[in-house]
Amino acid sequence: MKNFSKTVLAIQAHPDDTEIFCSGTLALLKQKGFKIVIATMTNGGMGGATQNEAETAATRKKEAARAAEILNADYYCLNERDGYLFDNAETRIKVTELIRKVNAGIVITHLPFDYHPDHRATSSIVEAGTIVATLPNIPTKEKPTELTPLLYYSSPFGFTDNMGGKIADPSFFIDVTSTFEIKKEMLACHESQKAVMELMFNITDFFGDMRDSDLKIGKMAGVKYAEAYWQNTGAAFYSDPLIQEILKDFKR
Ligand SMILES: [Zn+2]
Repeated sequence: MKNFSKTVLAIQAHPDDTEIFCSGTLALLKQKGFKIVIATMTNGGMGGATQNEAETAATRKKEAARAAEILNADYYCLNERDGYLFDNAETRIKVTELIRKVNAGIVITHLPFDYHPDHRATSSIVEAGTIVATLPNIPTKEKPTELTPLLYYSSPFGFTDNMGGKIADPSFFIDVTSTFEIKKEMLACHESQKAVMELMFNITDFFGDMRDSDLKIGKMAGVKYAEAYWQNTGAAFYSDPLIQEILKDFKR
């Protein structure tokens, strides 16, 4: 195993995605001594029921920062526009800059065929921005990292691809039963989303979707609550099984 930095950076599209998809595992990694950094590509400005886009963005960034505090994590917003996120040179460089700034050893993002267009764009931007983290010609203020970070993907909502089809088996599951209450506490910081969920999907049980999803994944893993992960072991990335090793007691 190479000497990867003990900082894990979760970069996802919207404030609350990390809380829903991978915060149980982040809480376990924190218990193992990792520094946690949470970032969102967008400011979530379209996810408002009673405030305009700018007000919503301000509210949601505060909520995300509060949720991050529960893990003693730093929170960064890359301030792209919610719903209009594109993979281009600027967004890729922003991601490389952040990876370098926090010196990430592990990066977690959305699967490439997630249901939401912003999630798919994030996946593509983060993959491209991570591959080049060590290259000196990438124009950032921060110094290149020593190693290309390991790249992992969290599960898409509903555990299907963007057309509703079956997806490839995950690389592994993490039993998050012991940190599920922390997940709930983190998600509860996203107070503004209760009204949005009710408006969009008629959902009144704010934790319901996350609980059902983690129960469904837990069933596949043979535990109560679980999260699922895929590791990118393609030619561009190292395949050292770092999370699997650190969380071997929770891996299924
Ligand atoms: Zn999202």
